[in-house]
Amino acid sequence: MTIFGVFEIRLNYFLKAFHQQKNSQQKIISLTFDDGPTEFTPRILDILEKNHAKATFFCIGKQIEKYPEILRNTSNLGHIIGNHTFHHSSKNGFYSSQKIVEEISSTNEIIFDTINLKPKLFRPPFGITNPHIADAISQTKHDVIGWSLRSLDTIIDDEQKLFDRISSKIKPGCIVLMHDTSDKTANVLEQLFVFLQKENYKVVLLDELLKIDVYEN
Ligand SMILES: [Zn+2]
Repeated sequence: MTIFGVFEIRLNYFLKAFHQQKNSQQKIISLTFDDGPTEFTPRILDILEKNHAKATFFCIGKQIEKYPEILRNTSNLGHIIGNHTFHHSSKNGFYSSQKIVEEISSTNEIIFDTINLKPKLFRPPFGITNPHIADAISQTKHDVIGWSLRSLDTIIDDEQKLFDRISSKIKPGCIVLMHDTSDKTANVLEQLFVFLQKENYKVVLLDELLKIDVYEN
């Protein structure tokens, strides 16, 4: 019984997470924004609209409580909404499976109450995965989405450095991690679209990049 239990956790530990589309023959990438909705999200939405691009927003439940209208606008504009836990606690990596299931389920509920859709995509806070998180995901049946290009937009203050970092790392099939939590990211996003257009990159949604379902039917 004990041995079986350990084996089960190990199986769950190796559940698949998507980080990029490795075999992409086309110059396509996906943009993802974490930790919203916030007061900065509308400007990010405007920039995406202006550039005819859609993105995925991994949203926090307690932020949705504050800004339900922004979540509705984001979804209505055709962007994908993903689950990023309710509290985004720095202790998330130490939570029991049950506590993580609660974090994920309560976030799916507030998203469903707000936009009538049930996200299938989950991104763990700080990108931390462990057996408890894997076990929780196997219960909630979410797909875990990582990234292949971490912008470091919450760490790097200099906009030029941030732009140089992102633009130098863009590759076909990559998933870019950004945060809709500052004007700095919005400024860099504007520059990034100029670069992407010059380099003939197309921004696509995660369902197109990864060929997966993003909401429960
Ligand atoms: Zn986050």
